[in-house]
Amino acid sequence: MAAGKYVVVQTAPAVRAALGEEFGMKIGTPVTGKMVAALRRLGYKKVFDTDFAADLTIMEEATELLTRIKHDSALPMITSCSPGWVNYAEYYYGDQLSHLSSCKSPHEMMGAILKSYYAEKIGVDPKDIFVVSIMPCSCKKFEKNRPEMENNGLRDVDAVLTTRELGRVIRRSGILFDRLPDEDFDTDLVHDATGAGVIFGVTGGVMEAALRTAYFVLTGKEREGVEFHEVRGFENIREAKFDLAGNKIKVAVTSGMRGAKVLLDQIREGKSPYTFIEIMGCPGGCVNGGGQPYVRDVFLPNEDADIMETYIQKRASALYSEDQRSVLRQSHNNPQIQALYTEFLGKPNSHKAHELLHTTYNPNRKRFD
Ligand code: SF4
Repeated sequence: MAAGKYVVVQTAPAVRAALGEEFGMKIGTPVTGKMVAALRRLGYKKVFDTDFAADLTIMEEATELLTRIKHDSALPMITSCSPGWVNYAEYYYGDQLSHLSSCKSPHEMMGAILKSYYAEKIGVDPKDIFVVSIMPCSCKKFEKNRPEMENNGLRDVDAVLTTRELGRVIRRSGILFDRLPDEDFDTDLVHDATGAGVIFGVTGGVMEAALRTAYFVLTGKEREGVEFHEVRGFENIREAKFDLAGNKIKVAVTSGMRGAKVLLDQIREGKSPYTFIEIMGCPGGCVNGGGQPYVRDVFLPNEDADIMETYIQKRASALYSEDQRSVLRQSHNNPQIQALYTEFLGKPNSHKAHELLHTTYNPNRKRFD
């Protein structure tokens, strides 16, 4: 498949919150270190964290949002990192695609950066780099084949494996997952990630990460209390209002297509009260993606709080606790993202950033093209 290639792998945030279930671990057990160790033993040259590119997505998306607010153009803006949602929008709301952010999803951005900036820095021909993405999402397999997901004739991402598929590969390789030591991602150039990138894996996480950075860009200072609890939770549609340096914005978050339809019908009828909307294709977000381990019991006890909670809440807690443990929790404070802009991209939404990191949508796309 990739003989003679420089084969690297990246893993999405939601994978670490569920991969342990493939090996009999309790739901909600974060297994980041063991996952990295397993991937190294499978022979990947480098093991990268898609969270780096989630931070990059936030830099691009928050800048795009602020530009749209400034020009009062194509509002509300809607997130675009969920291919399940993007497909739905193309099929059923082709007349409303201008509302989608033009940002590619984080793993596609990561592939584009690995085959440009990173390749240049390490002196490898981009044609020789083969990028594998480990995703919670079966739809990412479709997304990687979208014709727009390439630069200079090279696909951004070459292969996608789901969390379940990775579990199978690890088992078949004879690796004893639970006995692996914890290891860290590779540390060169595209390693650093903030807590904002980690929470991408749960509904409301992209919105919260974008608000953390939008607040800083508009006010020039960090918000006291980095967390935006108003956009967390699992109700079908959640809404909140914020005052960002005099800009009053109303936002909405939903996951699953039931809420998406309500929000898109409002936009189509010219009645949407929102400035920014987050939509994820799977109920609960990527922690509940179609490529995640199957679950037998929907409700499980939470011994600490003496309550029952869903497996989605447990997986989400694994990501929120990783965010809380992070030293850096806002995408704009990621030093390697800052270096990427200084040395290569110029600034967010620059011409080069648009070439590599942004995409277009097609209302006439066939289901399987
Ligand atoms: S929400 Fe579902 S469809 Fe969307 S990126 Fe996550 S796993 Fe994929």
